[in-house]
Amino acid sequence: ERREGALLRTDNVSKAFGGNQALSDVSVEAKPGAVTAIIGPNGSGKTTLLNMISGFYRTDQGTITIDGQAVHGLSSFRVARSGVSRTFQTPNVPEKLTVLEAVEAGRYARDRSSILAAVLRLPSYWRVTRDDRIEAERALALVGLSEQRHAMADSLPLGNRRLLEVARSLVGSPKVLLLDEVASGLDEDEIEVLASLILRLRDSGMTVVLVEHNFRLVLRLADVIYVLAQGKVMAQGTPDEIENNPRVMEEYLGV
Ligand code: ADP
Repeated sequence: ERREGALLRTDNVSKAFGGNQALSDVSVEAKPGAVTAIIGPNGSGKTTLLNMISGFYRTDQGTITIDGQAVHGLSSFRVARSGVSRTFQTPNVPEKLTVLEAVEAGRYARDRSSILAAVLRLPSYWRVTRDDRIEAERALALVGLSEQRHAMADSLPLGNRRLLEVARSLVGSPKVLLLDEVASGLDEDEIEVLASLILRLRDSGMTVVLVEHNFRLVLRLADVIYVLAQGKVMAQGTPDEIENNPRVMEEYLGV
């Protein structure tokens, strides 16, 4: 039974911004060891859904659970602590840190007290343990950025900044990885690095949720696809099922 295996579930989640109903009764689930893709036209609610799951916005209605635990209503910091990690469409690369330092700091970027420490320049922010370093090096190797480890993070070209963002999201052993348009701006080679990384993460049991415009990449990586349009789930299925649904392809994806 699919429901049994889901690590992440949203049930009838709704969200309005003023009079704009961004999400209506959205129910999706994501299983460990699977890539779940959320696709749909611009403005269909994909990023809003990620923002709801990661605790940046409150739900108006509906529930969100991770491993059976309700997380809707928790702060983004608490959601992160429960094992949910995400990337942002605009990579937020810290200034004045090397690539390696930026990844080491990734864990602390998700912790409210550490952000405070960073802002106040308290020494605790910089107390990177040996384990942090090993984990950061491992994350950099996974995204193919080891050679750039001593470059300044904000000097990297866009494609590498995106991969750095993914590396940052991997530290701290998240259970759920939410990837928001990570392939955009990447060249073919970088997309290949990213694709094989996503598949390896999936195979290692990670629950991967992918919001992605590159439909070919989605067809290649996804185990399950949800099609959003106007804040509603219009279709769901395997890549095969979605690709062979002419109505969905024409009406919602314009393919
Ligand atoms: P997508 O990611 O699919 O392009 P979004 O989730 O960004 O779509 O947007 C869905 C709808 O919600 C859009 O109409 C957008 O204008 C609106 N929206 C998203 N975030 C906000 C916000 N913070 N304030 C007001 N409206 C928002």
